[in-house]
Amino acid sequence: MVANENSEQTNEKLDVLESTRTVISQALEKLGYPEEVFELLKDPMRLLTVRIPIRMDDGSIKIFTGYRAQHNDSVGPTKGGVRFHPNVTETEVKALSIWMSLKAGIVDLPYGGGKGGIICDPREMSFRELEKLSRGYVRAISQIVGPTKDIPAPDVFTNSQIMAWMMDEYSRLREFDSPGFITGKPLVLGGSHGRESATAKGVTICIREAAKRKNIDIKGARVVVQGFGNAGSFLAKFMHDAGAKIVGISDAYGALHDPEGLDIDYLLDRRDSFGTVTKLFKNTISNQGLLELDCDILVPAAIENQITEQNASKVKASIVVEAANGPTTLKATEILTNRDILLVPDVLASSGGVTVSYFEWVQNNQGYYWTEEEVEKRLEDVLVNSFENVYNTSKNRKINMRLSAYMVGVRKMAEASRFRGWV
Ligand code: NAD
Repeated sequence: MVANENSEQTNEKLDVLESTRTVISQALEKLGYPEEVFELLKDPMRLLTVRIPIRMDDGSIKIFTGYRAQHNDSVGPTKGGVRFHPNVTETEVKALSIWMSLKAGIVDLPYGGGKGGIICDPREMSFRELEKLSRGYVRAISQIVGPTKDIPAPDVFTNSQIMAWMMDEYSRLREFDSPGFITGKPLVLGGSHGRESATAKGVTICIREAAKRKNIDIKGARVVVQGFGNAGSFLAKFMHDAGAKIVGISDAYGALHDPEGLDIDYLLDRRDSFGTVTKLFKNTISNQGLLELDCDILVPAAIENQITEQNASKVKASIVVEAANGPTTLKATEILTNRDILLVPDVLASSGGVTVSYFEWVQNNQGYYWTEEEVEKRLEDVLVNSFENVYNTSKNRKINMRLSAYMVGVRKMAEASRFRGWV
């Protein structure tokens, strides 16, 4: 059973990597780049596998496997989160590092993409064990990372405390304080205002921009959000505060539906730190049922492969905004586009996090810190421009938003690689 589940997950991750490569190849072809540029960009330039021995609280020694992938550093240092999860694989880390490159290109940051991960289950580890693992990982990858080489950040099941330990370990190794080594830190260690809710803020801006194009008024618009974790719960709150009616939300255990609008503040109050809330209710519906609800705006903000060839024709929303990474398959993208549903792809919609991570790094480098209002204003400007760029490319070229986002995302990296004489 476990073996089957694992091979299923491995196949899904391979599909995600292959889908990404397919769209990159189409984007490069449309931009007129030769095959060797695709050969360079279809995989990370560097991938380090590390083994980290940790003495556990019970005295035993456990060896953890971790990865750090650096996709392409032609534009600048690579940047991307570190994931702590039992299902981390090399393929997943590779795919995620490519997505980070695309996101950086779309929002025009001076970065390439990077990503890291450790195969572990932090829910079953003590604080002490997690600290040892975080520090061990930094020692293992220290040769290839740094404020001007590759800058990590939080991702699934890692947080500001883990970033603090990692920054401290790196500073000890280098023997000088290095806040710019990592982003997503606590405020007192050089973190940025607005980082925690940045992804959801970015998604909210994309929803607003998409709604304008579809002549939908956010006030009173019916919104469904799949997932009630960091991305989904902040998003539901921002949309609720903007006057939208949140008619459905879900977590891993089921979904809640109320055509009159759910009480988001109450649900936020009751959710646990893993984004679970539906267990408290009796009249739940399934996650599949949630995706097919009558609504104006659908936001998958949980996991990959949720909108597929099987259910894409049943989606009733006019706008789908991907807060999660990879929630819609390529076949489903085609079906939604043919049905004139405006799909805002993950590489654009969820780029608010890396944008504010970049702001954090800039503040660390200059040693001068911005107010929350300044961070929000800059994020707003970056995302509105990026949305417009991707939307206009899609209209002018008569292509879907995913392909146009990839074209915008890949262009700078391809150009920089050519100027450097790599391809
Ligand atoms: P999280 O772990 O905080 O929350 C995940 C939510 O999804 C939880 O409510 C969980 O119950 C739910 N969920 C898990 N399995 C599910 C299933 N099978 N069906 C329905 N719901 C399920 O994670 P997050 O940080 O909110 O990330 C969510 C998605 O957004 C991921 O794809 C992540 O890669 C993407 N993302 C997040 C950020 C960020 O800054 N948090 C940035 C970019 C992209």
